[in-house]
Amino acid sequence: MTDVFADLVGQDEAVVTLRRAAASAAALLRAAAPAVSRTGAPAAGGAEPDGGHDDRDALAEQVDGPGAAGDPAGAAPGAGMTHAWIFTGPPGSGRSVAARAFAAALQCVHGTGCGHCPGCHTTLAGTHADVRLVVPEGLSIGVNEMRALVLRAASTPSGGRWQIVIIEDADRLTEAAGNALLKAIEEPPPRTVFLLCAPSTHPDDISVTIRSRCRIVPLRQPPAGAVAEVLVRRDGIAPDVAEWAAAAAQGHVGRARRLARDPEARQRRDAVLAVPRRLTGVGAAFDAASALIEAAEAEAAASVAEVDEAERAALQTALGAGGTGRGAAGAMRGAAGQLKDLEKRQKSRATRAQRDALDRALVDLAGFYRDALTMALRAPVAPVHTDTAALAGAGAQKWDADGALRRLEAVLECRAAIEANVKPRIAVEAMMLALWKG
Ligand SMILES: [Zn+2]
Repeated sequence: MTDVFADLVGQDEAVVTLRRAAASAAALLRAAAPAVSRTGAPAAGGAEPDGGHDDRDALAEQVDGPGAAGDPAGAAPGAGMTHAWIFTGPPGSGRSVAARAFAAALQCVHGTGCGHCPGCHTTLAGTHADVRLVVPEGLSIGVNEMRALVLRAASTPSGGRWQIVIIEDADRLTEAAGNALLKAIEEPPPRTVFLLCAPSTHPDDISVTIRSRCRIVPLRQPPAGAVAEVLVRRDGIAPDVAEWAAAAAQGHVGRARRLARDPEARQRRDAVLAVPRRLTGVGAAFDAASALIEAAEAEAAASVAEVDEAERAALQTALGAGGTGRGAAGAMRGAAGQLKDLEKRQKSRATRAQRDALDRALVDLAGFYRDALTMALRAPVAPVHTDTAALAGAGAQKWDADGALRRLEAVLECRAAIEANVKPRIAVEAMMLALWKG
């Protein structure tokens, strides 16, 4: 049983919430549908437009506002469903995976997220006509993009179910873009659903007014055991490798998978964890800074390559590039604009990926100093990095708890500085010097 929620690792509570909401949403559609399709086959996920305006207005009252969202299942149709959602959780916890899975469940012709129907398939593949995914343009989402999006989201869903807008990294909305979004959330078109992803609901991440209009789905850092389990089940990875990768990735599912499958990812991690050993002087500290930044660039390139390739292939197939007839060639010419759009999106994602990769390297490094700290304190917790535990133990002896803590803080300060837009190289160099001096 691999439905659309299967890959949402270690998030049982969130999955219960989302299943319930999808069921309510499906009940709403059935209630609004003309009697014919209620008794016949499931409302077609295809081209047939749905019922009249009266139906939709009734729907609007039922779905409106987050108030109805808190009600338990089994109540009136619409309970458990609402127009705007925020998925929060640490990086790698699966915010966008959850949002996509929920979108698929809403577009599923069975209303469950079966994982097999055209609605589920096209949503997960990113080709559903009524699901729009917003990936931040560079490092923030601008107002023009948001306005255009809100406008398009107000149209009637072509598949007769829902218009869905997924905003990845909603914390990167500019203030103006946030306001444009807020207007749409305050007066949502009856069939439009906004799914926002953000690290937290802190006002720095999501404005208080947007937050007050949304239902929150908190995701937690998945436990290493759950991550290992999915690596074994889904990706066919050997149990011992899966366990090691899950622990080393500190709950980041995608990272665990890469560590388990990609020898180069393991090498890059090894290089990061070799940093503490190599800090023998000022020159070495600067060298280490360069190495860390270059490793992040290499990792970013590797991580987007796979997705980029898959997207391009999917788009080309959709446009008929796989065909050989004259029609296919014509479609290809008309599609140049779409390909250009895709390339633009991919480029902005690459920039983001570099920043994210550097952050992951810093998290690895923080894990090392955390291990040294817990060992110095003789705290009874398992190390993050089992393979460098001996080195962390040596550090614990040499630095004591105070020294390990100062170094851990230097890494965390570096992360915060980059988040606050300090140039990565400058922040990393400062960190390396602090790590060397202690
Ligand atoms: Zn389905």
